Amino acid sequence: MGTASDKKLFDDNGLRLDGRSPGDLRPIRIETDVLNRADGSAFIEWGGNKIQVAVYGPREAYPRHMQDINQAFVRARYNMAAFSVDERKRPGPDRRSMEISKVISEALQAAVMVELFPRAQIDVFIEVLQADAGTRIAGLTAAAVALAAAGVPMRDLVVGCTAGKVDGKVVLDLSKEEDNFGQADLPVAIMPKSGKVVLMQMDGDLSIDEFNEATSMIFKATERINQIQRDALKKNYSSNAQDWGE
Ligand code: UDP
Repeated sequence: MGTASDKKLFDDNGLRLDGRSPGDLRPIRIETDVLNRADGSAFIEWGGNKIQVAVYGPREAYPRHMQDINQAFVRARYNMAAFSVDERKRPGPDRRSMEISKVISEALQAAVMVELFPRAQIDVFIEVLQADAGTRIAGLTAAAVALAAAGVPMRDLVVGCTAGKVDGKVVLDLSKEEDNFGQADLPVAIMPKSGKVVLMQMDGDLSIDEFNEATSMIFKATERINQIQRDALKKNYSSNAQDWGE
């Protein structure tokens, strides 16, 4: 997060550097069944983000001391490829990827009917191939689709979006420059049917009014993103037993 004076992020017409209005999303495309050997998979392109998700399980949890006799656990691993960012990222886990893996695991754990699979684990591999800000939310949004494509019973999908503050203005779905030079970044994910929040983090500062404006922008955007998720699932799973909301 920088300061407002670091870089001009709006043009004279009040549009953002990529031509969007404050409330516009970047283009989003989701595809399922892109990997043959996974139980479920999805690929998401969200602006310049390109992220691949593979789901394996439910299968017996290993090591066995990790087993919970009452429920399965969802273990998400978020990984950024070395070539996914401008400055080569050192391969392997770091504090950031461990934190993101944890918050994504918790968000998905809330949506999956884990009580149906005692002693099991469900692995979700999120591979960021190209990063352009908002990767945790794009990865989580695609992971929910991959879990559904794997036939894992879920209470609901999980869908997210970010908003933030740029040059003193609240905007939706921050781009890379806005993330770097803006004053706040607020990723949020919900279960769309209930509206229950399953992930919320904040980097920077927002006033209460700005926070309310940002969250209402996010909630509105999640309706459109959820439709993209459902369309992706319907394309390959038109006769799927689970109803994703229509
Ligand atoms: N980023 C980077 N190198 C890193 C980590 C992040 O270039 O080691 C970039 C990447 O484009 C990422 C953005 O910074 O999408 C914002 O990262 P943040 O930690 O805010 O997470 P995200 O917005 O991707 O969920």
